[in-house]
Order: sequence, then C-alpha cells, then structure tokens
Amino acid sequence: MTDSSNLIRIIKEIQPHEIYHLAAQSHVHISFEVPEYTANADGLGTLRLLEAVRFLDLQESTKIYNASTSELFGNSKIIPQNEETPFNPRSPYAIAKLYSFYITKNFREAYNLFACNGILFNHESPRRGENFVTRKITLSISNILRGKQNKLYLGNLDAKRDWGYAPDYVEAMWLMLQQKRPDDYVISTGESYSVRNFAESAFREIDINLEWIGEGFEERGVNSETGEVLVEVSPDYFRPADVDFLLGDSSKARKELGWEPKIGFNDLVKIMVQADVKQLKKKSVIY
Ligand code: GDP
Repeated sequence: MTDSSNLIRIIKEIQPHEIYHLAAQSHVHISFEVPEYTANADGLGTLRLLEAVRFLDLQESTKIYNASTSELFGNSKIIPQNEETPFNPRSPYAIAKLYSFYITKNFREAYNLFACNGILFNHESPRRGENFVTRKITLSISNILRGKQNKLYLGNLDAKRDWGYAPDYVEAMWLMLQQKRPDDYVISTGESYSVRNFAESAFREIDINLEWIGEGFEERGVNSETGEVLVEVSPDYFRPADVDFLLGDSSKARKELGWEPKIGFNDLVKIMVQADVKQLKKKSVIY
C-alpha cells in the first residue's frame, strides 16, 4: 500500500472486477508507536489504490470495497452508532482510517467510482492476529491448559466492543459490491460486551469460573475453585487514549443488503477457544 507503481502494476495485470481493500497497519495500540507509517499505509494507501484504478481507466469495470472501521466513532456520545453518527477518532489508526473513509467517498462522488465503505465493528475468528485481545485471551487459555503459561496479562478490562464473527462480516462486504449503487454501511451485531466478559466466557469454555478481586492495576481474575490467579492487569497494555464503548446499529445493512449476523457472542467465544485448544492439541502430538 506504500508503493504506487506496484499497485498500478498488479491492478493492470489482474484487471479485477472487485477489489477488497483490507490491507492496513490495523493494530490501534501499534499505531501510537508508528503513527507516520500508519498514516502512510492506511490513509495514503487507500488514495494510491483509488488513483491506480482511475489511472488505468477501470472505473467502469472495477468495484472497490474499502475496509472502514467502527474506530472512526471513537468515544462517541451517541449510542448506538450508525452511518449518520459523527466521527470522533481517538488514535493515529482511526485518524488514518478517517482519511481513507473520506477519500473513498470523494472518489465515488467525484469520479463515479463504484466504491463502498464498510464501517465494520470488531470482527473476530480463530484467524485473528495474536495481539488483538480476543485471540490473546483464547490463545492464552490453550497455553494455560498445556502448562506453557501461568497467567494472562491484560489492559483495560472494562473496554466494551460490539464483537461479531468475521465470516459473517465478509458476506456483508461481498453484498455491498452486489448492489445497484455504491454506498456506506455499518456492520455490527448490536450487542456490546466488555473485555472482562470475553475473558469470563472464554474461561467458562474450559470449565473455569473466573472471580475478580482487587481494583485498578491490582485487580486479578482468579479461579473461583482453586484461588489460582489466572488474569492480571498490566499498565503495558493500556493505550494513551482508548475507545471505551462501541455499539453498532446496522439497520441500514439489514434492510438494504438483507444481511444479518448468524453467530452471536457466546458462539464466537466457543469457536475461538475450541480452535486454539484443538490447534495446540494437534501440535502437541507432532512435537
Ligand atoms: P481494537 O478495538 O481494534 O482496538 O481491538 P483490540 O482487540 O486490540 O482491543 C479491544 C479493546 O480491548 C481495547 O479497548 C483495548 O484497550 C482492550 N484491551 C484490554 N487488554 C488488552 C490487551 O491485552 N491487548 C489488546 N490488544 N487490547 C486490550
């Protein structure tokens, strides 16, 4: 995304009918460490892609999906958030994605490009990067089961997210490009849970009941039966500015795309825990 000539070359070679632009430096915390690179890859990267399609005169034949994000809403006072909710970004990642959102909309309006922004709330699966909180929790659980790790260190336990299942969200991306006209859509489940809730449900999958004791950095999640400390809070995982609460209203997508999520929060946690536990079982046979 940082190299125009290669973007042009590959689009010229493939002449795609549909482009799903998902490439990014997509980790919010990392964006505070590498803000300039994030702006380049996530913000200008989208411009390079749109310009490549335009230079190659493909605007009639190539449709573009742009991965926009609920992070644009930041700490919005309006709950739930839909396509009309004002943006209030809280990280270099979200600010780069704000540019990406508007440049996509601008190319649609200025050059008649079939370009859509999917404002997707968090979407998770066993393929989630290991440094996102859901996967970090499910991977740690399988490590704890194998005796490879004693504890899980987390940051803001009270951050709430509208967590959906990635395959459901990919279907929504595809549906956007099958419509008569390009538009922007919020994709979300309409339910919000905290990091604490995710950890509790994930441990429940392996029959451990987490109980919380203490406060702030001293808070701990312990096994209610044995008293063993399984979760600790570490300042390392807090962000300079965090988004505390996100809840999406995807009624437009439900009405116009006929989309709805199939997998809810409890099934999502189950799928992710089971996948990591199974994966590690497989590895433990090999080694
Ligand atoms: P994001 O919504 O794209 O930032 O997805 P993440 O999975 O990275 O973070 C979701 C929320 O979990 C954020 O509010 C984080 O501050 C919070 N969180 C709490 N502990 C952790 C942690 O150890 N790692 C990460 N990545 N996030 C954490």
